[in-house]
Amino acid sequence: MRQIKSLICPVVLAAIVSSVFVIPAGAATRRATNHNRSSLSYADTSAQYDDPYSDFRNAKYSNAGLLSERDEVKLGTQLHREVTKKFNLTDVGLDRVERIGQRCARVSQRPNLTYRFHVIQSREINGFSLPGGHVYVTTALVRLANENELGAVLCHEVGHLVARHSLRTLKKSKEYDDIANSLGELTGVAGSIAHDLGVSLGQIVGAGMLTIHSRDEEREADFLGVRAMPAAGFDPQGMITMFQKLQRIEEQNPDLLGSLFSDHPDAQERIDNTRYEIGRMRRR
Ligand SMILES: [Zn+2]
Repeated sequence: MRQIKSLICPVVLAAIVSSVFVIPAGAATRRATNHNRSSLSYADTSAQYDDPYSDFRNAKYSNAGLLSERDEVKLGTQLHREVTKKFNLTDVGLDRVERIGQRCARVSQRPNLTYRFHVIQSREINGFSLPGGHVYVTTALVRLANENELGAVLCHEVGHLVARHSLRTLKKSKEYDDIANSLGELTGVAGSIAHDLGVSLGQIVGAGMLTIHSRDEEREADFLGVRAMPAAGFDPQGMITMFQKLQRIEEQNPDLLGSLFSDHPDAQERIDNTRYEIGRMRRR
C-alpha cells in the first residue's frame, strides 16, 4: 500500500480502496436475521419473505437506455489507458486470474462481452471492474485467495459488469453527455477529442466514480457472483471463506483493506446472505 500510495494521488487511493468486494461508503445495513430458520426446513414461501436478493431474481440485463455496447467497449479502452497511467500492472499471477476470470465470464448472463483481466501491483487487498469488460485485482488479493475464493471475487466483479452498474452511475453523472458525444466522434486514440476525453476520464478514474458502488449494487453483484460459481466450477463456499478472510484482516491489519473498509462492518451480513443463497441453490 505504501508503494501504491507513492504512485498515486490520495483521491485515487481513496477511490480504489472503497471499491469492490470491499464494502461501500454510506451503506445502510440490512441484516438478514431470519435466514437461519431455513435450517428448520421452513417452506420456500417463508424463505422468500426474508430473501435478501428478491429484487434481483428476475432481472434482465442489457445496455438499453445506457451507452451502446460498442461505445461501452470504446469507453473501457480509454478508461483502461487511464488506469495504466495510475497503477503498476503486472504479469504476476495474471495467468491464474485470467483462467479463473474467464470461467466466471463464460457462464455469466453477459457471456459475449470480451473480458480482460488485469493484476495491479499492490499490498492492498482489492479488486474492481470498469465498463467494457475490464476487471482488476491486486497482487495482495491474488496471494490471499485460493482458487474458489478468487473465483468468488472475479464472479462478483463480472456481476457488476453484467448489471452494468458503472454505466448506470455514468448515466447519472453530469459528464455523461460530453462523454457519450466524444465516444460517438472518437475514431482513434490520437486527436483533440481523444485528449479531452482522456482528461475527463482520468479525473473519473481518479475520483473512483465508476468503481464505488451502492450497497444494493454490491448485494446484486454478490448474488450474481454466487449464482455463477457452481456453473463456473467453483465451490460457492469460497465466497464465504473470502469474506471471512477479509473480516480477519480487518481485525488484525485493517490498513491492508484501506481506511474505508473498517467503517463498514457488514461483512457478516454478506456472509449470512451468501449462506442463505447456497442453501437455496442446494434445495433446487
Ligand atoms: Zn463489488
